[in-house]
Amino acid sequence: MAAAAEKKTHVVIVGAGIFGMSTALWMLRDGKYNVTVLDKCGILPAPDAASTDLNKIVRAGDYADPALAKLCLDAIDLWRLPEWKGTYHETGVFALSTSDEKDGLAFVDAAYKNCRDYGLDAQLVDGPNAIKSRYPSSVPTGSFGGRQGYFNPIGGWAEAGRAVDVGLKMVRQLGGTIRAGAEVTGLVKEGKEIKGVVLKSGEEVKSDLVVVAAGAWTPSLFASPGVASRFPDVIATGQSVGTIQLTPEEVETYSKIPVVFNLDDGWYCFPPNPDGLVKMAIHGAGVINPQPSTNGVSVPRTKLTPGAEDGAIPLEMLKRLRKGMAEVYPELAKKDFVTTRLCWYCDTVTGDWLIDYHPDYTNLVLATGGSGHAFKFAPVIGREILRVVERDPNPSYGERWAFYFDEKVVAAEGKEAAGDVSREGGETSKAGADVRAGMRKVLREEDLLKPQDLKAQA
Ligand SMILES: Cc1cc2nc3c(=O)[nH]c(=O)nc-3n(C[C@H](O)[C@H](O)[C@H](O)COP(=O)(O)OP(=O)(O)OC[C@H]3O[C@@H](n4cnc5c(N)ncnc54)[C@H](O)[C@@H]3O)c2cc1C
Repeated sequence: MAAAAEKKTHVVIVGAGIFGMSTALWMLRDGKYNVTVLDKCGILPAPDAASTDLNKIVRAGDYADPALAKLCLDAIDLWRLPEWKGTYHETGVFALSTSDEKDGLAFVDAAYKNCRDYGLDAQLVDGPNAIKSRYPSSVPTGSFGGRQGYFNPIGGWAEAGRAVDVGLKMVRQLGGTIRAGAEVTGLVKEGKEIKGVVLKSGEEVKSDLVVVAAGAWTPSLFASPGVASRFPDVIATGQSVGTIQLTPEEVETYSKIPVVFNLDDGWYCFPPNPDGLVKMAIHGAGVINPQPSTNGVSVPRTKLTPGAEDGAIPLEMLKRLRKGMAEVYPELAKKDFVTTRLCWYCDTVTGDWLIDYHPDYTNLVLATGGSGHAFKFAPVIGREILRVVERDPNPSYGERWAFYFDEKVVAAEGKEAAGDVSREGGETSKAGADVRAGMRKVLREEDLLKPQDLKAQA
């Protein structure tokens, strides 16, 4: 006898970045869910979302942690599928550190070991000459700051914004609903149950389950009156990005370069994108933007924030971007910056993501805490989120991604600087999922660059 058709669970997903998009994809493919994705931005992919960018590094095994190394290899298998429309470019990645930066070097060593253990042909490079020898002779390279590390021929980068767009189109094709300009400002609570969400317009959107994947806006959303629920020590941090424009001749010269990633000071850069833009950034401590309206919780200040349209970054960070470029491609360091941007991480204490049910509710799931390294997992992360939703978390990660209040902070202090435990001046993760150097600062207008700083330096 045929089983009666099961009623599908109606899920509202808040946020159309990679956490929300990938969750929607895996739920729709599973077949048991009706999915509505809501995003506050009127244009999708949201231009100021962390996921929307020229490019992101796609590491293949390049994690100190074997479980994450394995998960990104799962992601690579999916990135290579035609459904991602060629948004993934397998250029290889240099993972580098100076020998006197112990944390960076330890990360590189462990990541190299994981690559080899997983059968990747990663090759050690014991100094600048070994690094240079892997470039076409026509590419003018620099001192690489005396770094060493390894080259992984697998991995590379993704055209990030386009990949999100491709993913959202797949969500629609699978029958999901995506609503732009639908800002969630509250939850409809009935005891421990969430009946749906409230939009800024006042409209209520009913659901059986809510997944909040609002990226760096999640901490301030939970501090807002409409949600007003406990939330772990997760912080929005602004990270500095800059781009330069290559001429067609320069594009030709630099077209075969890999991604370069310094695991000691966090500087990294990409090959030119299809428009000849080269992006560089720093995976670092970042800045915070605490606001009185959110009781001091840091709120992203993006190009869509009135008064911040120019995307100015701290001048100090611009100088660090240029210095990093001078060490790797000295000729390109002489060029003007064409854009800068503060791009916002949703940072947890250890760098592990936050994917779990909220303990105060029966049907509210958090899928966030990207901590500056989640994009590469876009095709696969929804698989893991779905397991959490179905209360069958992957044993390799379930506990690490669990909702926490003070325990992780205390544990991190015990491990000595394993995480950023204070709102300002905290040292960033050295022992968690990822490695990061530096101290957080409060974002101050007076520290931001002026337009003339973007010009090439004499
Ligand atoms: C500068 C920078 C460089 C990075 N580089 C890399 C890299 O090289 N490799 C890598 O793997 N990862 C990288 N990352 C990390 C990666 O981009 C993030 O971990 C990931 O994109 C986070 O996705 P998300 O879905 O959590 O957040 P987002 O992409 O920010 O999406 C959140 C969405 O929620 C929406 N939203 C927010 N509030 C509401 C609300 N109240 N109602 C409705 N919608 C709402 C927003 O509009 C947004 O569209 C980088 C991040 C940054 C900032």
